[in-house]
Formats: sequence, structure tokens, C-alpha cells
Amino acid sequence: MKVLTHRLADIDPILYLLNDDGSPTTTVIIHGASFRDAFCFRPDPDEYRCWISRAQLKGRIYLLSWRSGFWSYNPVRWVPNFFAVEDNAHRLGRSLKNVLSKLRSRPLRRFTLIGHSLGAHVITSGLLNNEWRDIGLYKVILLGAAIGEKDYEEHTGRQFWRRCLSQVRHRIVNCYSRYDVYLWRRKFLRRDQLECVGRARASHLSPRIHNISFTGRLPDWADHDYFVCFDRVMNRVYPNRIRSTAYQVEAICDCPWCDNTVMVNANQDDYCPYCNITFEYRTRDDLPYWAYEPQEIDCPWCEMETIVVQEPGVERCSRCRRQFEFDRRGSEVRYSEI
Ligand SMILES: [Zn+2]
Ligand SMILES: [Zn+2]
Repeated sequence: MKVLTHRLADIDPILYLLNDDGSPTTTVIIHGASFRDAFCFRPDPDEYRCWISRAQLKGRIYLLSWRSGFWSYNPVRWVPNFFAVEDNAHRLGRSLKNVLSKLRSRPLRRFTLIGHSLGAHVITSGLLNNEWRDIGLYKVILLGAAIGEKDYEEHTGRQFWRRCLSQVRHRIVNCYSRYDVYLWRRKFLRRDQLECVGRARASHLSPRIHNISFTGRLPDWADHDYFVCFDRVMNRVYPNRIRSTAYQVEAICDCPWCDNTVMVNANQDDYCPYCNITFEYRTRDDLPYWAYEPQEIDCPWCEMETIVVQEPGVERCSRCRRQFEFDRRGSEVRYSEI
């Protein structure tokens, strides 16, 4: 039997549905290449899931996860590798409409594409190489786009923007930072004279291009990470927006009791799957809180087992299997037989 391999097998795009609150809008978010620990692998979709959840966007929210192909920190290898990575972004872009065709089983209303860094490159390649008018692409949001206006050989800067605008019904939002170090490196590596889209205002003037400056306002040293502060970025892209209260915010944090890294529902009580203690992780200050501090006590029956108690209630000793009820006032703990 002949085996057919997918032509994007090495990029392996996967669409994750992050939330659906029933509102008639669809947003697909495309991440860039990971500079963290996932050079040759897929960046952790759970991290993006948590950052994106903080913005509580309305409608159906998807993450398009892909493998950029980064595999080396070595600066000698970095240069040829970077061109291969850009090529992968370009290949994914050309097939983007095809990849998103899975979503069309339900009507796409107010369909928005958001791309960060090379993920924005994926979108512009998609806009230049496919017809999007039949899909009804409503809005495109570029965050620190790792692409130059004149990188597509057959287009001047003006033609590039006009072609992108012709595929979008509403507007293109260009979020940029003049201090963006990674995009400066791209320019340096390619010996380009021109800035990346993600480092400057669009050169083409149009009421349908909205430039938003994040210069010096992003939390990382390279002024490039729009995901860590995704909520704040969305507040500027959509002023006066209404948050989706049905969107559960999630967070990855260290359990304050056992120190294991866990993913929890934030801003409400949740429990650690390793040690079972209950705590609330608040995204307002990124700290864990608990209503009852956990306390280690010896089993009042056999005195041979240590039990972690938290809120008042009934506990059972796993060694002698007997139950007891306990109550606490401050640090004072009382037990009673049941
Ligand atoms: Zn724990
Ligand atoms: Zn016991």
C-alpha cells in the first residue's frame, strides 16, 4: 500500500479549540517560533492556552500550533537554520487557508486571525498566496510581525499592504515595538536595509491599517513577547471590549504546598492534583492564596500516619481507616470522633 505523507508533515499544524462561549465570532491565534526550551519540538500549547485565557476573548478561540524547526542555539548554525525556519513559516502560510478549512463546518462570522512574530509571517504569506474573500476574513492582528514589507519579491511595500488589505473586510492592526531585539536580529542576519513590520508603523497610509506602538511596553528584555501580556495587548487592540465571563482563566504555577508545577483554573478555588490541597491562584498579582493554610497532623487514632488537613470537615486515615471530624480556629485544631 502506498503511504501518502502530508506535505506539511514536518510542520505538523494542529488546531486546538481553547474556548467557545457561543458568541458568533471566531479567532485563530498563531504563535511564532519558540525561543524557550522547545526549539526542535512543538512549543507547549498549554502555556499559550493560559496566556490567551487571561484576555477572555469572546467567541470560538483556536490556537494554531506548529513546529517552526528551530534546533540550534549555536550562532554559526543559527543563520542557515533561520532561513529554513522562515521557509517553514512561508510554507505553512501558503497552506493556511487549507489548514483552516476544517473550521468551516460551521459558519465563520467575524473571523479574525492573530499572528505573533513568525506566526504573523504565516498570515501575510497566507494573504498573499490565497483568496480569502469567500471566507469573509474580518480582521488581521499582527503582533511583532517577523516579516518585511518588501520581503515578497513580486511586491513593493505599497503593493504588499494593498494586497493584504484587499483580503480583509475590516482592518489590519499592526502592533509594533521599535526596541524589538529579535526582529532587529532578523534584519541583521538577513543584511536587510528595511525594518520588519513588527518594528515600525506600516509605510502605507490607510484608514484600514491601525498601528499600535508597544515600544518599551512589553515585559521581556527583548520587547518581543506579546503573549505574556496578551490581556493588556488585547485591551489596546479592542478598546472598551466586553470580556467573556464564560471563559475560564487558567494558569501554570507552582503548588504553594508541594512545589509541583500544575495547571489550575485561576481566580477561583482549585486543587493540586499531586497533594490535593485547595488554593486560589489570582492572576491580578500572580500569587497563590488559600482560605485555610494546610497543616500536618498525626492521626488521632493510630498516631502513625501524617494527614494534611485544610478546611474543616471529615478526614479518614489511610493507615487505620478510621474517620474523625476536625474543626479549626486560627492555628488551633480540634478533633472529634464520629
Ligand atoms: Zn501540591
Ligand atoms: Zn490512623
